[in-house]
Amino acid sequence: MCKVIAIANQKGGVAKTTTTINLGAGLVKSGKKVVLVDADPQGHLTMGLGFPKNLKVTLKSMMENIIMGLEFDPKEAILHHEEGVDLIPSNKLLAGMDMSLFTVEDREKVLKEYLELLKDEYDYILIDCMPSLGMLTLNALSAADSVLIPVQPQYYAADGLMELLKVVKGIHQRFNPDLQIEGILFTMDNCRYNNAKRNKQVIKTTYGSDIRIFEQTIPRTESLAETASEGVSIFAYDGKSKGADSYLELVQEVLKHA
Ligand code: ADP
Ligand code: MG
Repeated sequence: MCKVIAIANQKGGVAKTTTTINLGAGLVKSGKKVVLVDADPQGHLTMGLGFPKNLKVTLKSMMENIIMGLEFDPKEAILHHEEGVDLIPSNKLLAGMDMSLFTVEDREKVLKEYLELLKDEYDYILIDCMPSLGMLTLNALSAADSVLIPVQPQYYAADGLMELLKVVKGIHQRFNPDLQIEGILFTMDNCRYNNAKRNKQVIKTTYGSDIRIFEQTIPRTESLAETASEGVSIFAYDGKSKGADSYLELVQEVLKHA
């Protein structure tokens, strides 16, 4: 059985992409077959895994094939990373898709239809969402079995989280009755600062009884910041670091929740 997890938060810079890469690479280390989907026109996931920006065959081409009802090879866009994780890449041209989807019938289901064609090949499909709640994110949440929400423990985080949870509820009601919340993950956590502790507590008190909050939090570390430009996961860049340990623990929590 393949599980599709969307990594989403409309706020930028909360470690969606970093979490997609390291959760994905970590699941591969646990023996799972994993493909990561870059659903952000910024293409950070594609760049973060060391692939170029000017690829011709991308998520956009695959979604266009679905929209036009063409016969095509759904694996044509798949890239293989040296750590064993696969990728459906994107670049800035995907921004056009976010717009053009508005005129398509069943516009929220295009990504789902595409990913259905890949499910036999993988144990996990992780979708790295863009920092907005537009058509592409709607497509990701409609295609997903669950949504994992990275949250940086800052003062305004609780506010943004409330908005996102409303959208998730709406999608659950209208488009995807199977959508679950995988959990809230605290990222870039300044663990020893009272401010971070306070902000985590607010979210735990507000949501903790209804929504899983991962036990493991991801600390703010230099090596996790550095991996972005290295084209590899934290396991390949600095496998003995705190960041690597914390993402491995996250992998175990995700596996338990299968
Ligand atoms: P998003 O995809 O939500 O916009 P990113 O994953 O791109 O967020 O992370 C934003 C920035 O923060 C990137 O430069 C990334 O390298 C850095 N970063 C992510 N996680 C950590 C962390 N735990 N510690 C330090 N820097 C981090
Ligand atoms: Mg990102």
